[in-house]
Amino acid sequence: MIYSAPHILCNSQTLIKDGALLIKSGQIADVGTLNEIRSAYPLEQVNRFDNAVMLPGLINAHCHLELTLLQNKIEPGPDFASWIRTLVDLRRRWNKSVFHHSMQRGLDALIQSGTTTVVDISSQHIYEPLLKAPLRKLACFEVFTLDANESVRSMGALETLLAMIEEDEFFKAGVSPHAPYTVAPELYGLCADLAQKQQRLLTTHLAETKAEIEFLASGQGPLRELYQSLGYDMSAYQAPRKTPAQYIYESCQNAPRILFAHGTYLAESDFALLQKHGAAVVYCPRCTHEYFKHPQHPWKRMQAAGIPVCLGTDSLASNFSLSLRDEIDYLIKRHPEENPNAFWTMATETAAEAIGMGALAGKLEKGFYADFGVWELCESAFSYNAIGALQHSFVSGQKIK
Ligand SMILES: [Zn+2]
Repeated sequence: MIYSAPHILCNSQTLIKDGALLIKSGQIADVGTLNEIRSAYPLEQVNRFDNAVMLPGLINAHCHLELTLLQNKIEPGPDFASWIRTLVDLRRRWNKSVFHHSMQRGLDALIQSGTTTVVDISSQHIYEPLLKAPLRKLACFEVFTLDANESVRSMGALETLLAMIEEDEFFKAGVSPHAPYTVAPELYGLCADLAQKQQRLLTTHLAETKAEIEFLASGQGPLRELYQSLGYDMSAYQAPRKTPAQYIYESCQNAPRILFAHGTYLAESDFALLQKHGAAVVYCPRCTHEYFKHPQHPWKRMQAAGIPVCLGTDSLASNFSLSLRDEIDYLIKRHPEENPNAFWTMATETAAEAIGMGALAGKLEKGFYADFGVWELCESAFSYNAIGALQHSFVSGQKIK
């Protein structure tokens, strides 16, 4: 099958006018102009999209689909500890079938907005709805405890779960120690060993709030109060007196590539540490600035320091939609000085690299997955400003929207 459109953006550098993709067995078998592809493969049927541009499918590198039903349930605001407190209270009332329903709603929203690959984090270790969803999923199972003994037990449970799961090119499992303020050094170490040994994605929240920096530095502040209000005995807690990034890397002897979510308050002096270990950062713009009201995010300085930065939405407990296009549009408005190409690239090829799929996804090139969006183009010449609504979305050459 040949798919053709007036414009195909194959990657951040290459735009083909009157382009065409030849799709075979879910992969892109050839790319070129429609004339070239049609004459090379005269027997193939041509499927033409008029007034449209084909772009690589969007990759959401940080999401918690199980929280989708919390949309509009927690007021936006800068008090992160009270946000967690409310989240924990609301979630406590849910049974497994509510989590499943919530995740399914999230999957539907991703498909409708052009996401073709998602990194999902589940604290409840829910993944069944992901299996049936027609996009690519990296299901990362969350673990957290500040207790060394409990760390061993929770890793045992996670290993049992991972051994049971059947993976394929649409569904892979990863490991997600929650965050430096909820994860013991032992647990970070065990997660890193497992990710290294089983070649799994390792993702964790990092330097999301000033409260986290304070808790790691002194053991004090709003996060200590949160623990106490949830009934934890914090008398034995010894603050590591490190930055969150130092804490993680000193806990992991075998640090694989880590995908860090947020990094909003990552110390400039830690940029080199991330760069040295080949880490990437997921920036969730509207969650950061519109929901939690953080004024700045150092994404631009991270990029300059050689740290790849990709995009995520986080969950609907702290965002307004699960549409990466909405995140891109928000960044274009916030940064009129930037070329919009930068933001589309963060949501496609940079993200694919960051999650270990750089040779298969994020670009429309020969040998890559046939994962693409067909977007209305409001003018005859291509420009990022002319990209309109999503018309169709394809994964492995199959129409999912
Ligand atoms: Zn998150």
